[in-house]
Amino acid sequence: MKKRDYYEILGIDKNASNTEIKKAYRQLALKYHPDKNPDKDAEEKFKEISEAYAVLYDDEKRKMYDMYGHAGIDQRYTAEDIFRGADFGDIFRGMGFDFGFDDIFERFFGHRMGFNRKPRTRRGSDLRYDIEISLEDAYKGLETEINVPRTEICEACNGSGAKPGTRPKNCPQCEGSGQTRVSRRTAFGMFTRVTTCSRCNGQGTIIEEQCTSCKGRGAVQKTRKIEIRIPRGIEETSQLRLVGQGEQLGTGVKSGDLFIVVHIKDHPKFKRRDSDLYQKIDISFTRAALGHKIEVETLDGIEKLRIPEGTEGGEIFKLNNKGMPRLNNRGFGDMYVEVHVKTPKKLSKKARKIIEELEKELKNHKRKY
Ligand SMILES: [Zn+2]
Ligand SMILES: [Zn+2]
Repeated sequence: MKKRDYYEILGIDKNASNTEIKKAYRQLALKYHPDKNPDKDAEEKFKEISEAYAVLYDDEKRKMYDMYGHAGIDQRYTAEDIFRGADFGDIFRGMGFDFGFDDIFERFFGHRMGFNRKPRTRRGSDLRYDIEISLEDAYKGLETEINVPRTEICEACNGSGAKPGTRPKNCPQCEGSGQTRVSRRTAFGMFTRVTTCSRCNGQGTIIEEQCTSCKGRGAVQKTRKIEIRIPRGIEETSQLRLVGQGEQLGTGVKSGDLFIVVHIKDHPKFKRRDSDLYQKIDISFTRAALGHKIEVETLDGIEKLRIPEGTEGGEIFKLNNKGMPRLNNRGFGDMYVEVHVKTPKKLSKKARKIIEELEKELKNHKRKY
């Protein structure tokens, strides 16, 4: 039988966009999906439109097809390759069929494709916890406890969901496999449709007497105190990851991780840039002129800083290693001190006289100040 043109099959133009291709396929799939259409040639039709879609929706395959026709595809790809490359799950989701493309694939090829299925290894979700700390805490490092609301394994039944002292039993309907198989004969031979067991919901086991603590779920909602250690030198919005401290769904299911996002409060005195700190200090204009030893606050205590005579406003002095610690013991940043020279706003009579004297004195020296 001669293969029909893919564009013709989907009823679209040669230069149809991906959106148009998808739309056309959805409409045809709704019509010919074997769940909806009992006609005996619906299945063949469905396979045909699915293949056309799988080729045309894939840019590379479409290019090959446009250049060489069916030969360009058939020589390069097996039928399985064609189907495997397309995301049918995306199309069938929300279309109301009770099975996904994996089941359809099984009809076409007699075995499962191995994707689009719910991953066998379920995993608890990761959780995020935001914590705000002071700059001092970031300087010293912090050990603290946080309260994290999360789902965790029920301690009463150890996650089984069964009343303590009892055990979940093998599901009699699926004999513990979690799946039921329905075989049917079609034009292409025997097809076995595998569905999730309705009795046990795919678990393979059933619980006769439920654990009262978790109502048979095996997991409970709990606010858990968790100790955390924030290393010294931590930076704004750094994340700490506590492996396995996220959501726990049950025994044998991998727990999620807990991510602690650290925020650092603005400090009233210091600004931080990477591992360096910045601050502004006021000094009087006389001290700026004469020079002075000032006391400077740091996160490590009070430091002495010599301001030399003739210091200008805006000059910056550096105190080595008085900034933030760097992570992983890589030393410290520096503290930068910007001097702000204050001009007195109100002068006493005496002060005014002295400054006027000074003004004269400076003039006599005929120097420009
Ligand atoms: Zn329980
Ligand atoms: Zn079952």
